[in-house]
Amino acid sequence: MSGGTLLVDEVVGEALVPMAGLLRLLMPTSAVGFALKGLDGRYRLANPAIEELLCRPGERLTGRSEEELMPAAACSLLAECDRQILAGEASAWADVELACSGQNRHYSWLKMAILAPDRTLQAIASLVEPARQQASLAIPETLRRLQEANRDLQQMVIELELVASTDRLTGAWNRRRLEESVHSEMERMARYGHSLCLLLIDVDRFKPINDQYGHAVGDAVLQRLTALLQAALRKVDSLSRWGGEEFVVLCPNTARATAAAVAERLRREVATAHFATVDNVTVSIGVAECATGESWEEWFARADAALYRAKSEGRNQVRVAPELAGQWGSGGYVVANFVQLVWRAAYECGNEIIDRGHRQLFADANRLLAAMLSDQPAEQLGPIVDQLLTDVVEHFRDEEAVIGAAGFPATAEHLLLHQALTAEAHRLLDHYRSGTRGVGDVFQFLAYEVVTKHMLGADRLFFDYLRPEAAGRPGTATLPGGRR
Ligand code: GH3
Ligand code: MG
Ligand code: MG
Repeated sequence: MSGGTLLVDEVVGEALVPMAGLLRLLMPTSAVGFALKGLDGRYRLANPAIEELLCRPGERLTGRSEEELMPAAACSLLAECDRQILAGEASAWADVELACSGQNRHYSWLKMAILAPDRTLQAIASLVEPARQQASLAIPETLRRLQEANRDLQQMVIELELVASTDRLTGAWNRRRLEESVHSEMERMARYGHSLCLLLIDVDRFKPINDQYGHAVGDAVLQRLTALLQAALRKVDSLSRWGGEEFVVLCPNTARATAAAVAERLRREVATAHFATVDNVTVSIGVAECATGESWEEWFARADAALYRAKSEGRNQVRVAPELAGQWGSGGYVVANFVQLVWRAAYECGNEIIDRGHRQLFADANRLLAAMLSDQPAEQLGPIVDQLLTDVVEHFRDEEAVIGAAGFPATAEHLLLHQALTAEAHRLLDHYRSGTRGVGDVFQFLAYEVVTKHMLGADRLFFDYLRPEAAGRPGTATLPGGRR
């Protein structure tokens, strides 16, 4: 997995909360109340269902605490749940009684820990449902339904992604998967200032192994080497086969000195391991930390230059590229970006223009979400919302041109979908600007209706019409190639 980002569709403690499930919960039609509360005790996100359940339809819950919303008895039960989660539990449950329209009602209230990449608590999620007769069954049932609703999608994504992103000989990630991960990690670096390092590993004198023992033995060495490296890597780091006998390790949230230590450990592990038939194998490693404003090509070239030095200075060595002026050090601030739309290989249609547009919308939606969750003032949210809408409109226009040219038979219908979404987005933004709708509503619409549902739903219909281009994958051409 790409380390660093906490995916909401990772396991959060015991509870699996896939992104699609979360977005579904946020939908106006969801029957399950859902809210996210920051560690300051105030809600950051709340869906319409929870407003209904708390007998406060149409009231904005964001920014408010449980004490402001519920009577003391309910609050003390919920505070006990929070205490359990603060003490390290993945989830906690309470049967809460609230009065609504003169009637007392029972609710099954499940709280779950939302963790940052380093596993520290970032927020507490609530799932709320009217209690069934057997209250103890309600929560497991809710979770079961949530998981079931997303299992198919997840399975599809997992299968597509495995095939499309791993190298057949070694099982390591391939270049394409690496590139995907590099781009999202570079974006995170630019946004939050996390440091990011790259290790370029090359087997020393591999050609003589092939020449002396044959290609099959060479292959077995690459497989054994991959297993060794995988086992020695930290969980957050990813190993990719760059090609031939070259590998790349991407180390998110890792400063230069730490990456150098990781590289040195890998070098030593390989040098001291026993390989069948050939006995010993060594590797040389070049390390580079990504500098602010640097492109992937420039960054990779610096790692390559460091590798070249390791080779020319005797092999079986680690060399680290010098720090660039203006490089962001570690210790940057960390924003509670615990909910992210995560781009997947399976979302690509193979057309560069459309894929770039879709990625851009993901990035825009994530930026808006991060800004919302870090409580940025309205004047800073406005431009992000505007940018997202501008990018949506621009992407729709590009996409219409591409699918029209590709002969997609339902282009006219797709155009109507775009028009309806654009009109709704403008309507919502007018409400947002006049203060009658919150930024949460805007995010819900843009992230769910436009980005997730339209892009991953309606857009799939034209994917097949664009497939012939898939052979010349976009992006790979931009990778620094030619090393082979
Ligand atoms: P150096 O220490 O300078 O890196 O020397 P080297 O021999 O490792 O480097 P060179 O680039 O000359 O040779 C790499 C060799 O790797 C040549 C190529 O035939 C071999 N190779 C590339 N891909 C594979 C593969 O998938 N399997 C096997 N068995 N060999 C491969
Ligand atoms: Mg080599
Ligand atoms: Mg579309």
